[in-house]
Amino acid sequence: MKNISSIQNTTSQPKDLAALRQAYQGWSNTPDPFSRLTRRLATTLSLETQLGILAEELGSIIPFDSLNYRHQIAHRDFVYATGIGGPHRCEYRLNLEGVYYGTLTLNRRQKFSADELQGIEMMISAAICSLRNACQFIAIEQAALTDALTSIPNKRALDEHLQRACLLAERHAEEYSLILCDLDHFKSVNDQHGHVVGDHLLRLTAGALEAAIRNSDSVYRFGGEEFAILLPHTGEQEARDVAERVRSAIAGLRVDCGGTELSATISCGVARHMPEENADQWIARADEALYRAKDQGRNCTRVFATIG
Ligand code: GH3
Ligand code: MG
Ligand code: MG
Repeated sequence: MKNISSIQNTTSQPKDLAALRQAYQGWSNTPDPFSRLTRRLATTLSLETQLGILAEELGSIIPFDSLNYRHQIAHRDFVYATGIGGPHRCEYRLNLEGVYYGTLTLNRRQKFSADELQGIEMMISAAICSLRNACQFIAIEQAALTDALTSIPNKRALDEHLQRACLLAERHAEEYSLILCDLDHFKSVNDQHGHVVGDHLLRLTAGALEAAIRNSDSVYRFGGEEFAILLPHTGEQEARDVAERVRSAIAGLRVDCGGTELSATISCGVARHMPEENADQWIARADEALYRAKDQGRNCTRVFATIG
């Protein structure tokens, strides 16, 4: 049986190591644009950073006035733009193994020559695998922050946003409020109409909440039949008005259950962020207000009052 030193001797001859060292130096100092481009792209999974690298490396060989990239990833538009365009343009739809990964456009004052176009295509071909990985990374990140049933941001997204809100509230003395909403007697919806109808009502509720709030506010699925709404630049009274508005929106929903019409109500708990409070303490106060709304009859809003 071979001992370890004899195995090492057969796998790493000094001759091989020298060749490896030389290859490494060639690879890391190489003036070859493809190696440099792919080496730089491999250092990041950020699509924005990758497009910046591609623009830089491409521009060092084939001058252009602007580079634009556009793609819809996880239902969101991703747009990257650098420079100001000229009248001549070349546009590439990026495809790899039959999957589309966005459109890249270069603009310039002078026409692109056939040689330049060939050069651009070669550079894009060298970059496409990295760009695909970056697109997939965005999609995976997005999925990790999205609730699969309702397609709205999930509890993990809420936790991140609440922590950021706590920091911003301290740093800029900004007002933030939080509303927790809970569907009333939702268990009996499942019991009487089945989970498929229950799921449908959850999706309708998420959509109705999103439709009832401002663009600057955001809705999250907090848990089973509970939702949270984060409101920047919003004090206690204004947050209560929003809660009442979303409560009426849900009360107006109707689900056709083959002959019978199903309606729903929610109870809401409101808490504005208090100085030096962390996210858990803030949620706990909103939850306490929600508990009171449930206790005092449901289909109503209660505020954790902090002002006289
Ligand atoms: P309350 O008014 O006190 O909130 O009563 P409730 O029945 O709404 O509350 P409870 O906590 O007793 O029940 C919540 C129900 O929500 C039980 C659970 O099966 C249901 N639920 C949670 N997540 C889902 C889901 O994803 N789909 C469906 N269909 N039901 C869910
Ligand atoms: Mg609940
Ligand atoms: Mg409930």
